[in-house]
Amino acid sequence: MIKKQLFTPGPTEVPPETLAATARPVLHHRKEGFKKLYFSAVSNLGKIFRSSGEIFILATSGTGAMETAVCNFTSSGDKALVVVSGKFGKRWKELLNTFGVEAEVLNYEWGRPADPGDIKEKLEGRKDIKAVFTTLVETSTGTLHPIEKIASVVKESPAALIVDAVSGLGCDVIETDKWEIDVVVSGSQKALMTPPGLGFICVNKKAKELYEKNERKNYYWDLKKASGRHKNNQVPYTPAVNLIAGLEQSVKMINKEGIENVWERHKMFSEATRAAMDKLGIEVFSESPARGLTAIKIPEGKSFIIKELKEKFGIVVAGGQAHLKGKIARLGHMGYADKSDILKLITALGVIVEDFSGLSAALKAANEIFKKYAK
Ligand SMILES: *Cc1c(COP(=O)(O)O)cnc(C)c1O
Repeated sequence: MIKKQLFTPGPTEVPPETLAATARPVLHHRKEGFKKLYFSAVSNLGKIFRSSGEIFILATSGTGAMETAVCNFTSSGDKALVVVSGKFGKRWKELLNTFGVEAEVLNYEWGRPADPGDIKEKLEGRKDIKAVFTTLVETSTGTLHPIEKIASVVKESPAALIVDAVSGLGCDVIETDKWEIDVVVSGSQKALMTPPGLGFICVNKKAKELYEKNERKNYYWDLKKASGRHKNNQVPYTPAVNLIAGLEQSVKMINKEGIENVWERHKMFSEATRAAMDKLGIEVFSESPARGLTAIKIPEGKSFIIKELKEKFGIVVAGGQAHLKGKIARLGHMGYADKSDILKLITALGVIVEDFSGLSAALKAANEIFKKYAK
């Protein structure tokens, strides 16, 4: 027997309490029981987005929430600036192109973070750029973008800032209201430790009129229609009731720990993983590593590690995407993860590459990080 465990940057492990919540009998979505559940899910999500703005829970994956944002915050013929440094930035660009938005692209080498100075330069004197689309964590490379600084330069222009935080929300720091981010998009199956199938859009208080005044017409994915129902803790069509029950359980658990503690825990995981990789002679890929996953360069001649982690130890990690396929492995440590999971991952890697002196040093280095955080 092999016990499987997800160490992927989405989907992620789901707590048993959450799985149990999704298995409860179906509630009718127009009755009081669901309204209470929905209110609790939304209020708890708000504490994680760090926003008193409006939150939409959509029956779709993260990409569906991204598409909904494009459709509700842009119209055909608009201009937008988009940061592309990996697969998910590229997805913004593809979505914008699909919906008739002229996307100006700021390209960065995969693994590099965006430079807020470049965005400032691009926006200077430009009143025609409606929005800047970027990513909190570029999951394809494990890279954190400096969103606080980006927000401070976008604020100086008339453009709105729209951030994909699908893998970043709940592990890397994001302060939607304080940093004045207009729109943040996320999804259920990453650090929010809920099964796949829900997408979220958080609209900062000041940004509400952006979708209210938008010209494009939408039907199912119309935020105006959804917003009208929110006052009564309702959504326009039948929601994914049981996934929302699971979500409600997970976001309550996150807030019980405290979002700031959750951020710290992920910082500890990423530091411990990097310190251990160093001792195993494995290089970290990103120049600006995220907290929820660590992308590593696959060592020369060790292309078997992803397959063997799974086959020998049930540890499921992700490979590289596009041109990084076969070159990197992405180790997820987001959401429902603890220190013993990190030790398990490090140990399995060390055993597979049969570097036992490196492994001993790696475990020591990880433990030093744990001790630092325990203070
Ligand atoms: C996972 C992810 C998405 C969405 O992917 P779905 O498969 O549609 O849920 C979008 N952006 C980022 C940064 C992601 O990590």
